[in-house]
Formats: sequence, structure tokens, C-alpha cells
Amino acid sequence: MGYLPLLLSFLISNAFHSLVALLWLKGIQKLSGPIAPISRANLSTLALILPLAVSIEQFLGPPASSNDFVLVRLPLWIRTLMDKPALLLGVWALFAGTVAVFLIQEVRPLFRAFKRKHISAIQSQQLEQWVDRIIGLYHQAGLKLQRPKVCLIETNDPVAMIFGIVRPVLLISRKLLESCSRQEADVIIAHEIAHLYFGGNLRMLCIWAVRAIQAANPISLILFRDITDLMEMACDDLAATLTGDRKVLAQAIQKMSETNTAVSGTLLKRARQELLQRAEEESTSYRIRVLEHTSHEGALPSHILWLCAVALGGMLWVIV
Ligand SMILES: [Zn+2]
Repeated sequence: MGYLPLLLSFLISNAFHSLVALLWLKGIQKLSGPIAPISRANLSTLALILPLAVSIEQFLGPPASSNDFVLVRLPLWIRTLMDKPALLLGVWALFAGTVAVFLIQEVRPLFRAFKRKHISAIQSQQLEQWVDRIIGLYHQAGLKLQRPKVCLIETNDPVAMIFGIVRPVLLISRKLLESCSRQEADVIIAHEIAHLYFGGNLRMLCIWAVRAIQAANPISLILFRDITDLMEMACDDLAATLTGDRKVLAQAIQKMSETNTAVSGTLLKRARQELLQRAEEESTSYRIRVLEHTSHEGALPSHILWLCAVALGGMLWVIV
């Protein structure tokens, strides 16, 4: 087989495996009733990783299953597709479009973030005590995590973020402390620390890498966006549970999303910025609705997650 048909068969098999994983995920969510956002994020992560693992294994390794247990024979579908040029063109266009979305919406912002000019960070005794108190809430709840380094930064926007991968630093802007009430700042800091508790930037980088390998796969685009939204909701949920104030966190999220509304540049740039802004607003209002209207749901125990992984892995295995 030439390089192009080989690439096409990998892309189709990967996309089909992901589609099955997505349907499996939706099925589990329908059957199980409400699940905690962190468990939904974990299940979505499985649905993102396993199709790639199975596709690579089937592509490089020995035949995965005996012919008797093959549920879908992808090579036959691919051979049929090869004989229909119009359909084939459509499939290539879908993959190319998905790669373009990935490059524009996910790779470009990452490069920009690396190029961002140096921000001076200072240490603040008061902020240290503040963070110690929030970390104390985590420890009281029996949740173990290492205390991050904390720095105060000077920016024009209210910012709270975890910076760095191996040695993460919690950055809080002076503007945030000035524009939020003490209670609001508390829940925002608790939210950022929740990111660290759930694996921080290292976890997201690993998930992003798996997503990057599947840049042409439209289903992995959906799953990756779901995971980032669900991680935000999981951190909201934990922060609100620990600080005991869902309404205050909802207010704080609203306040932080209202900044950064200036749209400028060429027509194309403005259209793109407006589109991204609208998507951001939509996801923020969904986050707030979830926070205000759902109570804390229990997370799935890890052995159930393992069972789910085995079930999904087995299901993908019989699609060759
Ligand atoms: Zn967050």
C-alpha cells in the first residue's frame, strides 16, 4: 500500500474507533444518571486515549483478534471508499478541515502563550497566608496536595492561573484582589488549587498530546473540548464544595468573564475574535448554570473507571 492509502486507513480507523467511544460515553451517561464532572472528565479522557491506543496497536502490531470475533471490517469499507472518488474527496476534506481547526484554534494560542512578554511576579505575605488557608480546607477534607509557590502579578485584568508544568506556580493578579470581594477571591483561589489537585497543567499537556496526534479526527476535537469544559466544572464543583459557596463562585466566574471584551483588528480577525468570544460566553454561562443548579454528585470509584476502560478497550478491539 502507498503512503496516502495507508494514512487514510489509519485516519478512518481512528475516527471510527473514536465515534464508537463517543457513543459508548453518551450511553454510560444516559444509563448512570448524574455523575460528578471529574468522573465525566475521566471517562471522556478514556474515550480520547483508548481509540488511539487501539488504532496504533492494530496498525503496527499483529492482528488483534481472530476473524470470528471481528464486528466491523474497516479495510473492506476503506476499499469500497477508494472506488468512489467524490466520497473520498469529501473524507479528505473533513480530515484537512479538522487539522486546520486544530492548528488555528489550539496550536496558535499555545505559541502565543509562549511568546507572551515577561510578567513581573512578586511574593506577597498576605497572599501566602490566604493560600495557606485554602490549602487547609483541602487538607481538612482529606485531600492531599502539595502547596504551590504563589506569586502576585501586575496586569490590567483580574487573573488567577496555574503557570508551569513540573513546578507549578499559582499566579494571582493584584487587579483580581482589588476587583473581587474576599469571598469571591477565596473561591477563585480554591478553583485554581483544584486544577492542581486534579493533575494541573501536566495532565492537560498529556491529554493535549494525545489529542494532537489525532489532529485530523473530528471526534477527538469534540472530546477534547468536552474534557477542558468538564475539568473547569470539576474544579468549580470542588471549590464550591470546600468553600461552601456556589452562588459566590458563580458571581466570580461571571465577573471574570466580563473583562476582556475589546475586539479589534481586521474584519477577519474581528469575526474570529467574536466567534471565539461567543463560544467562551456560552461555555461560561453553561458552567454557571451547572454550578447554580446541580448539587455535588459523587465521583465514580477508581475500580469502576478501570472496568469502563476494559469494557471500552474490548469493544474497540473487535473493530478491525
Ligand atoms: Zn479553571
